[in-house]
Amino acid sequence: MIEVHEATKVYRRGRTEVRALAGVSLTVPRGEFLSVMGPSGSGKSTLLNLLGALDVPTGGSIRIGGQELARMDDTSLSAFRRERLGFVFQFFNLMPTLTAVENVMLPGLLAGRPRAEMLSRAEALLETVGLRGRSQHRPDELSGGEMQRVAVARALLTEPALLLADEPTGNLDSKTGTEVLRLLREATRERQLTVVMVTHDPRAAEVGDRIVRLADGLVVGDERVSSQAA
Ligand code: ADP
Ligand code: ADP
Repeated sequence: MIEVHEATKVYRRGRTEVRALAGVSLTVPRGEFLSVMGPSGSGKSTLLNLLGALDVPTGGSIRIGGQELARMDDTSLSAFRRERLGFVFQFFNLMPTLTAVENVMLPGLLAGRPRAEMLSRAEALLETVGLRGRSQHRPDELSGGEMQRVAVARALLTEPALLLADEPTGNLDSKTGTEVLRLLREATRERQLTVVMVTHDPRAAEVGDRIVRLADGLVVGDERVSSQAA
């Protein structure tokens, strides 16, 4: 599913260079839930941005589903992001003026999919994440955990192959965070979805099948999770 080979990323700002990734190699099979941990500044977000084709590596290669990202032009990259990827963020990134169901439908509408189909799928996904009856609420009428569940439903709308999550529990208390992760785990397992989740929280990380640790832009640990925490 994902093959990262010797990926490097150097940020240049004037005369200073920051080596965010110093040669990361990583294979993630289809259906795996991978947690990425590491101290602040270790390159986690950079790796996620490269996997999400939001940024390009300075060196090395990244293949997702057999496609080399560096060989794709901008049009195919944005189609790839729209059709094959789902994103979940720390701060939910919901549109404040739209209802829950409209937020969930949005990526489908932006991708030009039929409205009626997106509406029924969005309603079904909201039910899957336990938000039946909340579909007409706007984000400011929802709790943090509910907003993140809306975001999970939104990420699943276009039936992506890969879901990227950046600190999805970072803004939730631990009980709510665990609930959201359990849900994410179930929804992705049912769909054979590959997940890469960046987290600071060791308990959140253990929801995954495997934990990769980064330090100074390098992989310094790679272990399987023995018992599923959630
Ligand atoms: P997190 O650890 O929560 O993923 P960020 O990725 O936002 O945090 O930031 C990690 C580090 O990268 C921080 O030290 C931040 O200052 C730095 N950083 C992020 N974006 C930029 C940027 N555009 N320019 C310079 N430094 C940045
Ligand atoms: P993490 O997510 O683990 O906190 P990041 O990938 O955000 O780490 O950052 C890795 C390193 O790259 C840090 O030293 C950070 O300051 C730097 N960095 C990240 N983004 C930028 C950017 N856009 N411009 C310059 N430096 C950046």
